[in-house]
Amino acid sequence: MSVRESSGERIFQGIPVSPGIAHGRILVLGRRDTDIPQRAIEESGIPAEINRLHAALASTRKDLEVVQDQVRQVMGAAEAGLFDAHLLVLEDPTLLAEVARHVRQDRCNVEWVLHQVAERYASALAAVEDEYLRERAADIRDVAGRVIDHLLGIFGEQDLAHLKEPCIVIAHDLAPSTTAQLDRTKVLGFATETGGQTSHTAILARKLRIPAAVGLPEITQRARSGKFCLLDGHSGKLTLDPSDQTLFEYGQLSQRRVALEDSLESLRYQPAVTLDGHRLILSANIDHPDDVVSVRNSGAEGVGLFRTEFLFMNRGELPDEEEQYRVYRSVVEALAPEPVIIRTLDLGGDKLPSSMAHSGELNPFLGWRAIRISLSEPTTFRSQLKAILRAGAHGPVRVMYPMISSVDEVRAANTHLAEVRAELVERGVSIADKLEVGAMIEIPGAALVAGALAREVDFFSLGTNDLTGYTLAVDRLNERVASLFCSSHPAVLRLIQMTVDAGHRSSRWVGVCGEMAGDISMVPALVGLGVDELSVTPAAIPQVKYLIRRLRRDALQVLASELLLCDTAQEVLRRSLNAARQAAPALF
Ligand code: PEP
Ligand code: MG
Repeated sequence: MSVRESSGERIFQGIPVSPGIAHGRILVLGRRDTDIPQRAIEESGIPAEINRLHAALASTRKDLEVVQDQVRQVMGAAEAGLFDAHLLVLEDPTLLAEVARHVRQDRCNVEWVLHQVAERYASALAAVEDEYLRERAADIRDVAGRVIDHLLGIFGEQDLAHLKEPCIVIAHDLAPSTTAQLDRTKVLGFATETGGQTSHTAILARKLRIPAAVGLPEITQRARSGKFCLLDGHSGKLTLDPSDQTLFEYGQLSQRRVALEDSLESLRYQPAVTLDGHRLILSANIDHPDDVVSVRNSGAEGVGLFRTEFLFMNRGELPDEEEQYRVYRSVVEALAPEPVIIRTLDLGGDKLPSSMAHSGELNPFLGWRAIRISLSEPTTFRSQLKAILRAGAHGPVRVMYPMISSVDEVRAANTHLAEVRAELVERGVSIADKLEVGAMIEIPGAALVAGALAREVDFFSLGTNDLTGYTLAVDRLNERVASLFCSSHPAVLRLIQMTVDAGHRSSRWVGVCGEMAGDISMVPALVGLGVDELSVTPAAIPQVKYLIRRLRRDALQVLASELLLCDTAQEVLRRSLNAARQAAPALF
């Protein structure tokens, strides 16, 4: 929606999905649905029509495999894996049977029918509450669009790999396969009408470091190819026909950002130490072995949270000890001598593997998840523990249990660990000499008994995502209550303080690996509360380090004692943000 119209420029507010600023000529990609002709066919022509569909499906498969290969080479296996879902659409028996049925029944050309059926599927998916499933609507449209191109004999219409001029691409919905192929030197940025933070297109834009904004309704009708626009991927603003004044302001902003990028780069291998000499550990969160590259580039001191769920999702059989060992070992070797904290399986809640997808629990977040699953499925748990111990022979490894709610659970988990260790030693297998054990503090009850838990473990890591959810009884995925999800709530702060104090009383270090650790507005509060480690997404490491190096811990300790007495989350956030802003204005 236009938020300002002055001096001829028009500003539209979208959702920022990939940071950076781009200024250039617009290329509007047309909407394809209007170009699909509808033709009646004779009964005798039906088999030929179905054959055309199969030929187009085969050609599309070939195209997608080429795209997948390119993506694998440029961006890695994880991103290439995104296209597995596309390939599956090509084989979807229900969708294909429905298309064939309509061609026969309606005696209509197959491209028209495919478009209708795919649109129906995509619209149904787009209407579900689950954001992830909603985004899959884009996959179906992308694949169907490619098949239709083949049926219509349109080649390269959306070929962004061979653009002549640099441009900012504006489209209704940029297909992930198109995004993956685009020429980084020619596409300065892109903006789309649909999409969200977790759409593949957004994920790929961030990986390619192309400024992007989505969620700009009707932008394809407002923008004209060949005209100029300014795209701010930090704020999600798109300005059509920007005025000289706006360009001047953005020019200055860009210069400041370039200067900031230089300062961040110069700190890459510097420690995260405050102005008064207090050293923090700044490590990275990863959820795939391919992430080690970004961990190394970010200057992180190892991994503070390796989420292992990816190994168990989207597959029928569970990974065995050997497969897990190979994956953990690859990460440990790639990052040694920096330590890697491997979190044991945290399935359940919103992370359901195919085998559990319909577990039928009314309250999955309060149900059978994480350490509860591990303790009741000891064979799976023990093979993971063995794989972790064995990976520990190749570099420093720590293990961490998720969703701990009681001392009993830690003791039970540690008993399994001691038993599998003895078994491996007995068999003469090389394992870690020492494996530090940590408990994630994500449940208020765990924070309240942190003193007792500290006697059973070597460290704590605060999972502030779940801790906030459970403390405030807010489902972190439910948009309706999203505004109530505040990690700056004084109750959350008090639980963090209790955990830090209990840990330190037993000489245990305490980290934070929830999103709060990478939120620069809350970093002053966490440093003041005395946490020893912050584990954040690799992309956030430079900014967090830059900020820490401009803070004084003694002043923040005073601030933290005041924050603990605040009445509201807003008050805490305002004061912590002020401290961050004062110390590092360039970040804001
Ligand atoms: C957390 O809850 O803060 C956390 C880091 O775990 P996850 O986000 O994987 O549940
Ligand atoms: Mg959690």
